[in-house]
Amino acid sequence: MEKKVLVIGAGPAGLSATRELVNMDVDVILVEREACLGGTPKKLNYSLLFPELRPASEVIDPLIKVAKESPRVKKYVNSIIDSVKESEDGFEVSIKDKEQKVSTERVSAIIAASGFEHFDSRRKYEYGYGLIPNIYQISDIERMLSENKLVTTRGVPPKRVAILLCVGSRDATVGNTYCSRVCCAVSIKQAMEIKERVPDAIVHIYYMDIRTYGLMEDKLYWRSQLEHRVGYIRGRISEFMRGPNDTVIIKGEDTMNLNRALVVPYDMVILANGMELGLGSAQVAKVLGLRLEEHGFIKPLDPDRLPVVSQRKGVFLAGALTGPKTMSDSITEGQAAAMKAYEYVTKGIWEYEEIKVTAH
Ligand code: SF4
Repeated sequence: MEKKVLVIGAGPAGLSATRELVNMDVDVILVEREACLGGTPKKLNYSLLFPELRPASEVIDPLIKVAKESPRVKKYVNSIIDSVKESEDGFEVSIKDKEQKVSTERVSAIIAASGFEHFDSRRKYEYGYGLIPNIYQISDIERMLSENKLVTTRGVPPKRVAILLCVGSRDATVGNTYCSRVCCAVSIKQAMEIKERVPDAIVHIYYMDIRTYGLMEDKLYWRSQLEHRVGYIRGRISEFMRGPNDTVIIKGEDTMNLNRALVVPYDMVILANGMELGLGSAQVAKVLGLRLEEHGFIKPLDPDRLPVVSQRKGVFLAGALTGPKTMSDSITEGQAAAMKAYEYVTKGIWEYEEIKVTAH
């Protein structure tokens, strides 16, 4: 059989894997459950990427172009993997589209790169998302920024903005005790973008602690304060209330200053909603027979030594389905998974049986 690799998911990780495979003259079957290629960054119309503050389209569009134009890539959109059977030389895969039409493809290896979903802040009902006007999530604000429509329900740019970190992450009440890793950086990046568009706006970030690891400490955390005058308040916020003229009143405690009570009005509140595996990747895990780790993400065969190798022979992993990731991490993992899949389909390399026994 001619060597083909199935890539599930056309976000940064899946598109990056596709590009590498095409460069190595491997045919790709690319399956995406949404109508368009590009994954969450395209679906939600991401604005600037941190920490370099460059447009997301500069990164994702060239990857989409390869997948769209290469004759080596056969694309299925609005489609999911319905079943996977092992065959003599790989896998027989059923792909089902929205109209329930089923197509069958035979492939030698699989890369699962179906990504994450943003936490739905309606699950934190006390924050009033979806109920109180002018409360948004960082995933909503990306589109407002990229379409240049950052206005309140009164049609004017917000002059007082609060951003609340760790919504749906580090929170046992919603079952997510992990840190989503990127939402501090995204929030600070959004605060800087807001200050550039509305220079006289007051922007406050409410935090438990700030996790701008590595180079982002300087490029985002300090820069946001020194150049943009973003304010940081260590606080515990208990609820939001609707105020006069569609303002939002936040209530809580300033935990840095003797637990002083906070009752502060804002024009707009932004919730830094985190990342979860989501139903799409959960379905992929089920169809492929992959185990989940304790936080609900897909568990690689060995997270330390083989983060892009799954527990099933011939199946590789890339991107946020194994845990919260930045876009550049996902692109890197897509490249790594493509290399591993290439080794497997061209040389039959699968040297991981021993690790399977010793992996914890
Ligand atoms: S990255 Fe920041 S906002 Fe996101 S969960 Fe971690 S500490 Fe909270």
